[in-house]
Amino acid sequence: MLESLRLSAQTSSPVQNYINYLHDKYINLKEGNVADYIPELAKVYPDWFGICLASVDGKIYEVGDTNQSFTIQSISKAFAYGIALEDNGLDKVIDKVSVEPSGDAFNSISLEEGSGRPFNPMINAGAIAVVNLIQGVTPEQKFNRILERFSQYAGRALSLDRNVYESESKTGDRNRAIAWMLKNFNIIEAHQDPMNAIDAYFRQCSIAVNCRDLALMGATLANSGTNPLTGQVCLEPKYVTNVLSVMGTSGMYNYAGEWVFRVGLPAKSGVGGGIVAVLPGRLAISVFSPRLDKLGNSVRGIAVCSDLSANFDLHLFNAPTSTSPIRLSHNASQVSSSRLRSPIEVDFLSKQGQRIRLYELQGNLTFSTTEICVREIVEGVKGIDFLIIDFKRVLGIDPAACWLLANLFENLTESDSFEVVLTHLDSVRPFEDYIQEKCSDRLSQKVKLFIENDFAIEWCETQLISRELSPLHLLEEFCPLQEQQLCVGLSEEEIRCLHSFLELRSYSADDVICHKGEKADEVFFLLKGEVMVVISLQDGKQKRLATITPGMAFGEIPLVGIFERTADIIVPRHSECYVLSKVQFERLSVEQPALKGKILTNLCRILFERLRKANKEIEFLCH
Ligand code: GLU
Repeated sequence: MLESLRLSAQTSSPVQNYINYLHDKYINLKEGNVADYIPELAKVYPDWFGICLASVDGKIYEVGDTNQSFTIQSISKAFAYGIALEDNGLDKVIDKVSVEPSGDAFNSISLEEGSGRPFNPMINAGAIAVVNLIQGVTPEQKFNRILERFSQYAGRALSLDRNVYESESKTGDRNRAIAWMLKNFNIIEAHQDPMNAIDAYFRQCSIAVNCRDLALMGATLANSGTNPLTGQVCLEPKYVTNVLSVMGTSGMYNYAGEWVFRVGLPAKSGVGGGIVAVLPGRLAISVFSPRLDKLGNSVRGIAVCSDLSANFDLHLFNAPTSTSPIRLSHNASQVSSSRLRSPIEVDFLSKQGQRIRLYELQGNLTFSTTEICVREIVEGVKGIDFLIIDFKRVLGIDPAACWLLANLFENLTESDSFEVVLTHLDSVRPFEDYIQEKCSDRLSQKVKLFIENDFAIEWCETQLISRELSPLHLLEEFCPLQEQQLCVGLSEEEIRCLHSFLELRSYSADDVICHKGEKADEVFFLLKGEVMVVISLQDGKQKRLATITPGMAFGEIPLVGIFERTADIIVPRHSECYVLSKVQFERLSVEQPALKGKILTNLCRILFERLRKANKEIEFLCH
């Protein structure tokens, strides 16, 4: 139905336009009657109608009578339950109030056989038992605690509607009977006065709110207990799940089953005409319309929430088709580091690079998504020695995901030769803390952290080369002129001749050999140390394009003409180079044309090799 819906663009927000549409659609729905068993409630204007959506990041959409005051009534039970949980802990509250949907009306006088517990906190018996558990002896003490907390949820000072409170108190004998029954079954204990609890309960139900308040209160639950606008923690996250659970099973009384079937969101209604529904982690919906159906739920409220859920797939049992949590996976022979290596090392890595495997994760890491990652990694790491996990595109990680990944790494690193390398861990700070605080010392010391995949791959390549090709110290070797890449095929005489055109130059750590945009008029033969070719990014960070190691040339552009430098060249540690200036190269070209030809041929081969490597990687990454 939504596909065919073409809304006039009253506002720039499609969401706002949609709730405007719902308001127009149901404004003429006049079924149901206002509650009259509490006389004061019978005085309300029956056709008030407000709709409000509040997101967990504080965005509020509203239409209609969203600022119209009404009493919260039974909606208060969900929030009072949270206070009782914080005041007593879950076990003590469960001892007094069960969590079973009763299927009975909200004011039914029935208790669980044997234990005498009310079936759940959402029916009156449960709510009265709950308010009895809230700190405070006198009704005023209990109520003040409730009013303060409700005001935090709403983000503004709420108050008691005294007329409704007095009206409800005068006509509340059924609830008093429930309170004495709770005393009889020791749910309200011998030393406690059930009339204190019942008076606090009447006050709690008579707190004046509006539709906007309810949406924000619901969004606070959606936001793990923190008010999205004020940042005030109104309920400990561990109890939010308890509150939402009983709202989900019992919040709509004997409509609860059909509500879960049609709407599928934790919700709570009240005879004052309010409904609040919560989509955990995302938003809350509130509707205010006093006309109630025979079960005591707002008729328009049910209709609006049913449309919203159906049209926007909000039903909690709509499993979102999540994209794969593994964005990309490759080994180092498919995509190697930007460290330029000798032909021997390049050949070695083209064969052995598959022993280094990288996984780029994405999205929210929960049990279900991380289970997929772990399963694929366990399969993928057979025969490899280095596992790199990139968290750059991970949006969040929960404790279950932390445990799964840490457990995987503990298992993999039992072999001394296996290395786990993590990059962009700043995206998942909780996991970094988890490794340091909850994992073995062995793992927390063994896991390697890098800011970029490129450096992580380079480290793994170097470890692999040093294990199997040459000891680490050999990788730092000095490379004389005759073994330089640009000098392949030169005779001893030609090497001596070339030497006469060169200048020996040393650089210290952090020196900058040249900046992007400067005139390129020198070619460099790296003899010792290393240099990095980098570009500066908009965020001020540097991106490495290549690391040059002994034996390689860099800054070769002057060999083919005068251009500007296309990147910065920096020196991470002490290095030595031979330098061939443009002037010297031009003199060499005149005096030694054959030598020039060999140098240019070598340059073409080097550039072709780099192009081939880049094309291969691009082809792979574009899979
Ligand atoms: N205070 C009302 C009562 O106890 C609440 C009922 C409701 O909102 O469902 O009857």
